[in-house]
Amino acid sequence: MKLAERTDRLGTETAFSVSAEAAAHAAAGHRVYPFHLGDIDLPTPEPVVQAALRAIRDGKTGYCPPAGIPELRAALAEDISRSHGLRYAMENVAIQPGGKPVIGKFLRSVMNPGDEVLYPNPGFPIYESLIGYYGGRGVPYGFLEGRDGFETDLEGLERAITAKTRILIFNSPHNPTAADSTPEELERIAAIVRRHDLAVLCDEAYFDVRYSGTPVSLVSLPGLAERCLILYTFSKKFAMTGWRLGAAVGPRNLVEAVTRLNVNDESCTNHFSQHAALAGLTGDPGVPRRIIESLRERRDRAYAVLSDIRGVRCYLPESSFYLYPNVTEAMKRKNLAGYEELRLRALQETGVSFCTRAHFGRPLPGERDYYIRLAYSGIGADLIEEGLSRFKKFLEG
Ligand code: PLP
Repeated sequence: MKLAERTDRLGTETAFSVSAEAAAHAAAGHRVYPFHLGDIDLPTPEPVVQAALRAIRDGKTGYCPPAGIPELRAALAEDISRSHGLRYAMENVAIQPGGKPVIGKFLRSVMNPGDEVLYPNPGFPIYESLIGYYGGRGVPYGFLEGRDGFETDLEGLERAITAKTRILIFNSPHNPTAADSTPEELERIAAIVRRHDLAVLCDEAYFDVRYSGTPVSLVSLPGLAERCLILYTFSKKFAMTGWRLGAAVGPRNLVEAVTRLNVNDESCTNHFSQHAALAGLTGDPGVPRRIIESLRERRDRAYAVLSDIRGVRCYLPESSFYLYPNVTEAMKRKNLAGYEELRLRALQETGVSFCTRAHFGRPLPGERDYYIRLAYSGIGADLIEEGLSRFKKFLEG
């Protein structure tokens, strides 16, 4: 079969091939410590599960409106209005089968062929893949090691802007670095957006996965709400990654365009899952908080071992469920030539499985340091300690 030319430009999420390698290693009888995928091994909360079962029994099994059931759209509009200090109505919300589909639907709705799109690199690999697939030109911007965590390379971002730049993809809290923009950084980014009249995809997949500090959104700054589409997801906050449920939240005309894409792509998002999400969203806030508390314990236990490894430098992030240590010194001491040697030897010799910077976009010119990404959402606290202690012995040995 001869495929369309654009298929050559479609990328993928290489973290899934790391999963396959880890599974093969486990199938061969080895213990594997899974730090590679941002999946959650905690169960979906019982009230959400019960609401789904009830909805199935009540016959919520047919098609529903393409933009989602009105009750969920209204509840989410209210929830985001409260957390962002904005006024969204249900017309500003289109329910989606996951947060991920918002990326492609946003690009198809606002990007013209040849438009330049600023996107984070390292970053979620789907941005780069879909910008190219839909005929745009992806222009990467990076991150720098700051005092308390990673910071957006604002000078690099501004330098990358040309007369063709139309769109900014922005993700905070950030996957993979766990960078969490300060109010000052957000002010500076908002100024750039206004000055260059950019449309923004604000990927807030980890907005509610927070251990301390107050969440602030770029969308809340003056003049930004009318330029931004929020990527919202139920995946992380409610441990619902496999349910595939998220939303696009933003200006009405853009949400209408996204809804027309819903009609064309999938008709509607799973009907009974939406009733389950509604129960989560309007139920006891202690339920998602307990998920955060489990993740916090994992973060603290992982950080304690990692930051004690010779030649490894690591921040303690306030949000997301990723650690992104700098392993340059440790690799040098152990004579490891590159990312794949580090990753494969760690898997074979310790069972610890993780992604590296190379899974999050092509390294930028001038990058000299080496980083790995550890997701602690899919592995319990005791195994985190056991696995990372083995990793420490491996790196220091
Ligand atoms: N955006 C970022 C930055 C992510 O890390 C993810 C998932 O890992 C998503 C979006 C999509 O999440 P989902 O489709 O499960 O809602």
